[in-house]
Order: sequence, then C-alpha cells, then structure tokens
Amino acid sequence: MQTERHAALQAYAGWNQNLSESRTCASGGTAWLLAKHFIEDLNGVVYATGFTLAKTVSVIRAASLQDLEQTKGSRYVRSSFPANLYDQLKQDLQARLPVLFIGTPCQVAAVRSRWERFRNESGMTGGESGMTGGESGMTGNEDDSLLCADLLCHGAPPQTYLDAEIRHLIGNRPYTDVRFRGNDEHDYHLSIWNKESCIYSVKARKQPYLLAMLRGVTLMEGCYQCPFASPQRTGDITLGDYIGLDPSVRTKAGGHNISYISINTEKGRRVYETFLRAQPAFRSVERPLGERLSVRSSILEPAGRSPLRDKFLQRLPRLGFARAVRRTMRMEILKESAFYRTLHHWAHLVRKALRGGSNR
Ligand SMILES: Cc1cc2nc3c(=O)[nH]c(=O)nc-3n(C[C@H](O)[C@H](O)[C@H](O)COP(=O)(O)OP(=O)(O)OC[C@H]3O[C@@H](n4cnc5c(N)ncnc54)[C@H](O)[C@@H]3O)c2cc1C
Ligand code: SF4
Repeated sequence: MQTERHAALQAYAGWNQNLSESRTCASGGTAWLLAKHFIEDLNGVVYATGFTLAKTVSVIRAASLQDLEQTKGSRYVRSSFPANLYDQLKQDLQARLPVLFIGTPCQVAAVRSRWERFRNESGMTGGESGMTGGESGMTGNEDDSLLCADLLCHGAPPQTYLDAEIRHLIGNRPYTDVRFRGNDEHDYHLSIWNKESCIYSVKARKQPYLLAMLRGVTLMEGCYQCPFASPQRTGDITLGDYIGLDPSVRTKAGGHNISYISINTEKGRRVYETFLRAQPAFRSVERPLGERLSVRSSILEPAGRSPLRDKFLQRLPRLGFARAVRRTMRMEILKESAFYRTLHHWAHLVRKALRGGSNR
C-alpha cells in the first residue's frame, strides 16, 4: 500500500534552550522534546529508536521520561523494528492514546501502511479510531491519534558493521551506549560509553566506521536509491539538521546545534502549535521554505554510492568488517590528516611559484 506523502507547508529552525536536556541530542533536541510533550502533556506514548540493553539499535516504546532517555541522539546504523512492537503500537492506537512515532522515512512509511491496512480490513473509521481530545492538537475529522515525524536521512549501515567495529575497538569490555552526535565535544564522533564514562571517542575524519558511513561507502544498498529522499515527506513533521541556515539565526542559538523542522500536514501544524505553547524552552524561528531545500543532500537526492564501495564489498568476506573498512578508508583518513593537508598546501604553493617563474 502506497502511503500518502506531503510537501512542507511551513519550515522552522528550532532548538531546546535547556542544554541540560539537549546535551546528548543530535541537533536541536526537537525529537526528544516533542516526545516529552507527548508523554508529559498529552499522556501519550512514543515509539522511537534507542540503544537497548541487548546492545541493538531498535525501536522502543517509551511511556516515561526514563524510557525516553535512551532515544536521544542519532545512531548512524539501521534501526530494527521488533515484530511484537507493532502489535503494541496498534493496541495503543486502538485505545485512542496519542502516539508519536519518530523514525527514518522508510520506517514511517512502513508503520503508516500497516496501520492503514489494518484500519481498512477491520472497517475502522475516523470517529471510532481517533482521539478527540482538544489539548492534543489532533482534533476534528483527523483519522487517528498517530502523529509521525520522519528524519531527513542520509542512509544507514547494517547493525552487524557496528557490532564488528565495537568489538574491534574495545574487545569484550562492557559498554552501555554508542553515540554519534551531541551538543558537546563528542558531536560527529563515534563514542562508546560505559554508563557515564567515555571509553572511546574519535572524530569522524579519523574514525573509519563513521567516515565510511558519511562518505557513502557502507550504507545499506537500498539507501543509494532511496525513494524517500524527496521534499514529499512521509511524516506529518520532518526533522533534520538545519544545514544552510542564515548565520543571523545560527548566532541566536549560541553554538547549540539547530534542527530543521518542516510541518507537512494540518495535523502536524496543530500539534506543533500545541507543543510550542506547552514547552516554552523550545525556540522556534520560521524560515523560508526553500532555504533547507537549497542544500540538496538527503532532501532532494539519496546519498551518492562511493567509488570505494565496490572495493569495500570485495574485501569484506575475506577480511571482515573492521579490516575491510580500514583498508578501504586508509587513503581518505590520511587525506584528512593535518600532515597531509599541510603537505598538500605547500605542494600547491610550490607549483604556483614554479608556474609563475616559467611565465616570466
Ligand atoms: C541514520 C540517520 C541519518 C540521518 N541523516 C541526516 C541527513 O543526511 N541530513 C539531516 O539533515 N539529518 C539527518 N538525520 C537526522 C539528524 O541526525 C537528527 O536525527 C535530527 O536532526 C533530529 O535531531 P534532534 O536533536 O531533534 O533529535 P534527538 O532529540 O536527539 O532525538 C533523536 C531522534 O532520532 C531517532 N533516531 C536515532 N537513531 C535512529 C536510527 N538509526 N533510525 C531511526 N531513528 C533514529 C530517535 O528515535 C530520536 O527520536 C539522520 C538521522 C539518522 C538516524
Ligand atoms: S536512506 Fe532511505 S532507505 Fe535508507 S534508511 Fe534512510 S529512509 Fe530508509
């Protein structure tokens, strides 16, 4: 079943000004604060991706702020959706609980399509299935109490790659979390944590797993032809990093990462307005619709398939992930090093001087 898609009606730059809440969030902390709003203000539940006790990155059901804590931050790996959790989501919707689902656009499409099929097969109508409470923002003839937020998505590597990378980096040492983003010194690092203590943290340009992911070497094959990298969104609301934001707005955030937020449906608009009233710590600035679109990646086109990908795939069965990715990214990491950059710079100056000399 094809799910409906919607172009943005309005766009905002936003961030949670309460840094004690948003320190480990990916960008502006919008996803987490919106989720908090569903739990605290609407007595609802949230389905979002977290790092679980089983050391997997997967969708969890959060009904308390404690459950929600593990959903902070983007985890650059494919998030799985346990089969039994979908039944739970269906039950929550049948019980008319306000439900927020946050995920990649392909996850949102899957959730919507299964829920719509169920509603059609069981003959449920809007009135029977929908929440009608005024405070939620989901009122009128809207068809149900499900609000979906999709993420702008570059793509994700499979979980097996991340497992192999962690084993390579820390062996059998215990760990409780893996992070990639944050409003702290670990933003765009692969960092591994055992409770509050950081046992590994290396920035993207020196870290093979993260650099290979960002450069389009190790994504799932389908991500390179992703049909959801489009301004037509599967979510009522879309969240991403605000790349291309005018510097005058960026200054207002005082160094905080900033979310791109697009409101794609009337339901999304009502919930966003209710959210802003209920969560005054959230700063929201309306922006022109074309501003984020001008930065094409992830919103107008899928991630490029790196020319290094075939080499990586050839090496993978023979060397295993950790060695294959290191061998493949060796030159890329070297090119990012300060030594190489300085050398490159001097070589450029010498070439320029010689050209100048020969023109004289
Ligand atoms: C795999 C991936 C690729 C992305 N690529 C881009 C991109 O190219 N351009 C861009 O602008 N933004 C991208 N994003 C979105 C961006 O990184 C932030 O997630 C987004 O800006 C929301 O930030 P936040 O501070 O509001 O989220 P937070 O408040 O930190 O909450 C994080 C949210 O992300 C969800 N999440 C975390 N990991 C995953 C996962 N693996 N799969 C599904 N959901 C997950 C959690 O459920 C949670 O709701 C990507 C996110 C992911 C997970
Ligand atoms: S790039 Fe597309 S297919 Fe890949 S995880 Fe993101 S939404 Fe899904």
